[in-house]
Amino acid sequence: MSYDPTNIFAKILKGELPCHKVHEDDDALVMMDIFPQSKGHTLIVPKAPSRNLLDADPAAISAVMPLVQRVARAVKAATNADGIRLAQFNEAPAGQTVFHLHFHVIPVYEGVPLGAHAGGKADDAELAALAQDIAARL
Ligand code: AMP
Repeated sequence: MSYDPTNIFAKILKGELPCHKVHEDDDALVMMDIFPQSKGHTLIVPKAPSRNLLDADPAAISAVMPLVQRVARAVKAATNADGIRLAQFNEAPAGQTVFHLHFHVIPVYEGVPLGAHAGGKADDAELAALAQDIAARL
């Protein structure tokens, strides 16, 4: 399947839809997941258009991975999480729901089960505060 430039993350990248932005540079946008699986669930969205990892340009992947690591560290510091899960889904049967490549940084708290993937919407004020705390630690 080919890349659909009308997907929701493409619209966020173009500024046509809002997001709780943590960071933006030439290669990627970092934002809060609005249906988080845990407190601090953050997404790294490379700007280069691809559906997912399978059709991505290797140069775009290598440009963004150091940022994925920085975000993982910043999220852990900002949330005091006990661990970090890195997730990335490729095509609908594998759980992908938005067809523009992105990486999930999901904090894990000892004894707290993760919520459902793309489950309930989080409070906007809480997401805004988390975005600020994570940005301050990047
Ligand atoms: P995936 O299933 O890997 O494609 O993940 C898409 C993720 O985007 C899910 O975790 C959703 O909760 C999240 N999501 C969907 N719409 C938005 C949005 N407008 N802003 C931020 N995150 C979103």
